[in-house]
Amino acid sequence: MGSVAFKHVYKYYKGEANPSVHDFHLDIDDGEFLVMVGPSGCGKSTTLRMLAGLEEVSKGDIYIDGRFINYVSPKNRDIAMVFQNYALYPNLTVYENMALGLQLHKVAKHEIELRVNRAAKMLEISHFLNKRPGQLSGGQKQRVALGRALVREPQVFLMDEPLSNLDAKLRTQTRVEISKLHSELKTTMVYVTHDQTEAMTMGTRIVVMKDGRIQQVAPPQQLYDHPNNMFVAGFIGTPQMNFIEGSIVLQEGQFFFENKRWLLRIPDHFNRALRSAKTNLRQVTLGIRSEYVSCEPWALEQYADWRISAAVDTREPMGSNTFLYARSGDDVLVCRTEAHTPIQPGDRIELAIRMDKAHFFDRESGLSLAVQGDATS
Ligand code: ADP
Ligand code: MG
Repeated sequence: MGSVAFKHVYKYYKGEANPSVHDFHLDIDDGEFLVMVGPSGCGKSTTLRMLAGLEEVSKGDIYIDGRFINYVSPKNRDIAMVFQNYALYPNLTVYENMALGLQLHKVAKHEIELRVNRAAKMLEISHFLNKRPGQLSGGQKQRVALGRALVREPQVFLMDEPLSNLDAKLRTQTRVEISKLHSELKTTMVYVTHDQTEAMTMGTRIVVMKDGRIQQVAPPQQLYDHPNNMFVAGFIGTPQMNFIEGSIVLQEGQFFFENKRWLLRIPDHFNRALRSAKTNLRQVTLGIRSEYVSCEPWALEQYADWRISAAVDTREPMGSNTFLYARSGDDVLVCRTEAHTPIQPGDRIELAIRMDKAHFFDRESGLSLAVQGDATS
């Protein structure tokens, strides 16, 4: 049904020296919720618009359900797209907006009625089918835009930042609704966002992009736990992963991470990756997430040989937990701890760096040494 295949796809815009999309190569399974995420300008919309037929493909092939579609017009691709700015017709009613696409495809009148009413019910917009877009709130307009896509019953839904114009609360609500719609319809979705939280919560698989290139494709948890490179490690997760520069040294058969102030034993499960790394081990960056920088007494005891000392700069209460920003020399580390911690700015504290949860990146290429050495570790 709604599988999608990108085969080495490039996009060169006129007058641009570098491609805006570079060798995008990806198979999307029927029924997947695929999210493309990355900073503004990384090529997400361009990729989606090539799939929609709104931009020409400069090089490479695109297939939908096994059909080569590079030269198929948008209306014949069996897709439906939802945009950030809704793109509703202001002088048509909600019903007419939702029905229009079907009328253009010469769908029978009673079938149109059936589909519009069914979609309206799913989205809980039945009570304003006779209103015009100008009479609706932003959230309501976006539901209408979703409804207009739903009634098409396409093989693939394409969504480009559909929640960006909604306020925070409505965004979360609509996020949950779109996920629910997907699990009911089981139609393939390709969803673009710059928001890593949206990507993590909605996608069954996530494509992280930067500068027109795919950085990594993986399910959300794998992306979080095993980022391929520093960019992905830093982009996914809040607060951002801590990065500390230093070198890896070998002393009597044991690897250590070393910088001016620290000498931390590296657990043996990294040995294989470190021994086979093609990297200058004197120029690495240690990556450690805030939940693995611990200040609680039990952790300091359990991970005694991974202790460092630091001075607390800032305390950020989040309600469910508190983030401490602690300084060790030139490095600032974020530590996630319990909400009611007595620790205050100005305090000198001990922190345990959970080296069993560390990542090591080649400072030049940014690649994770785990990926270089052994993709499965
Ligand atoms: P994103 O959706 O990830 O923010 P886009 O796909 O919109 O990124 O843009 C990717 C790159 O292509 C950007 O550098 C942007 O400036 C460029 N670009 C987008 N549309 C055009 C266009 N119509 N003409 C020239 N360059 C464009
Ligand atoms: Mg965009």
